Amino acid sequence: MTVNELAHKSVQYRRNILKYIVGANAGHTGGSLSCIDILNVLYNNVLNISPETVKSPDRDRYIQSKGHTVEALYVVLADQGFFPESDLETLCRYKSHYIGHPTKKISGIEQNTGSLGHGLSLSVGTAISAKLDEKPFRVFTLLGDGELPEGSNWEAALLAAQYKLDNLCAIVDKNGLQITAPTAEVCGTDPLDKKFEAFGWAVREVDGHDFTQLIDAFDALPFEPGKPSVIIANTVKGKGVSYMENQLKWHHGVPNREQYEQALVELSE
Ligand SMILES: [Mg+2]
Repeated sequence: MTVNELAHKSVQYRRNILKYIVGANAGHTGGSLSCIDILNVLYNNVLNISPETVKSPDRDRYIQSKGHTVEALYVVLADQGFFPESDLETLCRYKSHYIGHPTKKISGIEQNTGSLGHGLSLSVGTAISAKLDEKPFRVFTLLGDGELPEGSNWEAALLAAQYKLDNLCAIVDKNGLQITAPTAEVCGTDPLDKKFEAFGWAVREVDGHDFTQLIDAFDALPFEPGKPSVIIANTVKGKGVSYMENQLKWHHGVPNREQYEQALVELSE
């Protein structure tokens, strides 16, 4: 897709994220809005996944480690045709499979995630399997900056370099906030680029809302042969809705009717 087409998609995706979170009266609003442009580029321009190839052993794998922002993933998967969008009207309802974290019961979702700090390990294992089986697929995982201090991430990062997993790309949705506070005040990870480099990764830093920068980064994979790649995407939590941007309370805040209508005005084209 062109940058203009992607921008158009992101407006629709943001409106849908809010629509279904409001409908469910639950959800992770701020983080879904911070990562949606990344998911947009991944699913529309990068991944070779479709409803037709969802079972193909050669499909690319996307594993969303920050599972709690599953609403962003749901609206993109619905748009791609993995399931009818009307399914999302059951979000968080009794007996619905569309719960607040990804599960493999949903078409297009590779792994159950959202116990934080697990997605990178799962991705490393999957990337190793591709190497062992001499498969051409690539593995992408989205990490939150709030989950990065989990020790399992850094064990996985070491192994990824050890096994020269240049078929692996991690993207960090670096919005600077987590549930209770700014990440820097909880357990800071800066300078993040230097840390990943020291662990043997090739690093690129982008504006996570700039489609050209995201496309260029994904096009350049792997950044160095024989090394895993990480894209540090600087993002804004709550991006696109003025009163949500960089506001801690919107980690899992649900807009009331008036707030929702204001958001839709701001997200009109
Ligand atoms: Mg965060």
